[in-house]
Amino acid sequence: MNEVLSDSKTYIEVFKEITQIKAFFATKNSSKPGWPFYNEELFAEVGLADAVHVGHWQTHSDNVQIITQEMVDRCRAGDFVLEYPDDIEEKKKFTSEEYNGGGILFLDSDGAITDIPGVLLTSMHADCIPLFFYDPVKQVIAMVHSGWKGTVKEIGRITSEKMQSVYGCKASDILVHIGPGISKCCFQVDKDVYEMFRDPSFTTKGIKYYIDLKHYNKRMLMETGITEEHITVSDHCTCCETDLFDSYRRDGSKQRMGGGICILPVVE
Ligand SMILES: [Zn+2]
Repeated sequence: MNEVLSDSKTYIEVFKEITQIKAFFATKNSSKPGWPFYNEELFAEVGLADAVHVGHWQTHSDNVQIITQEMVDRCRAGDFVLEYPDDIEEKKKFTSEEYNGGGILFLDSDGAITDIPGVLLTSMHADCIPLFFYDPVKQVIAMVHSGWKGTVKEIGRITSEKMQSVYGCKASDILVHIGPGISKCCFQVDKDVYEMFRDPSFTTKGIKYYIDLKHYNKRMLMETGITEEHITVSDHCTCCETDLFDSYRRDGSKQRMGGGICILPVVE
């Protein structure tokens, strides 16, 4: 499995064997309330205290952002970069004082892609599935929040396709880790939700409806050309494992666990 629990039990390291990037999923020991996911102690612990932070006001959308050099340069110069769609309500705009730590923040957004070293892409979760992407050939990363709504909207597919169209990634080079999230054991849904999935036939148990979001995402990603051997899937269920994870489904938790991925700057 492509995950290792840190000695401090504050995060699960993802893609540990890959030295060019750092990727993690926070446990309940380092989760935070509110949004976006921002935990300075954890960022320092994983060696990313100086990274440019990218966060989202997540809306279960299929919006995946491209992090540009211009945005990163503005951040490095001390600006807070706030991006939002033209039609977003006025009240959802807010100032850097209301936001932890500066960086780049997108409103109405659930994923980001970059090829710029030193940029920490984050997402936040309380059962929804984190998708970690890495292309070792083009040195491109992506971090995505894919709950059931995002999965129905196929945000994972959109991310894979954008990595290919914008960055010239070959699907056959892309590695994906489908991280900790609510698993089939716990994700019982109503029939109307069940029927929104293209092919939910593998998920019935009698008259109850269960969705396997991890499997569904894996199949979707394979349809974009990513190979099965390049996709790893977490065994962790955030709803079952009370010692390690917060869960909205289990106890209505307001705590949010962060996913993060960053290309490490090359030390000259
Ligand atoms: Zn479970």
